[in-house]
Amino acid sequence: MITKSKIEDSMLDLNSKFPFVLPELPYEKNALEPYISSNTLHFHHEKHHSTYINNMNSLIVEHKLEDLILKEIINKSRSDKVLQGVFNNAAQSWNHAFYWHCLKKDSKKPYDNFMTQIAKDFGNYENLKSELIKCGLNQFGSGWVWLVWNCKELKLSILKTANADLPEIDKFIPLLTIDVWEHAYYLDYQNNRKNYLETFIDFIGNWEFAQHNFMLCTH
Ligand code: MN
Repeated sequence: MITKSKIEDSMLDLNSKFPFVLPELPYEKNALEPYISSNTLHFHHEKHHSTYINNMNSLIVEHKLEDLILKEIINKSRSDKVLQGVFNNAAQSWNHAFYWHCLKKDSKKPYDNFMTQIAKDFGNYENLKSELIKCGLNQFGSGWVWLVWNCKELKLSILKTANADLPEIDKFIPLLTIDVWEHAYYLDYQNNRKNYLETFIDFIGNWEFAQHNFMLCTH
């Protein structure tokens, strides 16, 4: 059972401020083997994620954004060309902190109200899975696949975003994400994104975390 406080401890809080610190992985680096190697997690967390955090901190100072909370930094820089670097690094910092929680071996599959909602919006769990995989394969180049709660339409939706982008914060609540940048899977799956996506869905997708997020936004 994931508790809210345990998640918040290792998430990048959207209400927090500069200076930002690299969140720890919520498990050991070998916890996802053989599906995701500790080598992949080492590079992905300590090199890629760490670089995004460091770049974000430098750019916040450069652009004098120290007084803003992370959510404001992301929203302000999202469509401002001058702040493109701020957005890319702030968004990637948050996306990765969220993504680490989306990975878990032997997670329970969706149940109860969450499964009822999945059946309502996708027909069944198998359809949800194939929609997520299709979406990941259709994302040309780098990006992210998201299962979100659509706050306006009160339903589950699947979205894809390019590069560092994330779903609009006030419209969609992320429940689960899949990193489809090659650095997320290349060491283990080479160019076979489909194999990575299928493995993610069946073996390492943290549906308990998605369920937890779903319960928080619908209750
Ligand atoms: Mn990544």
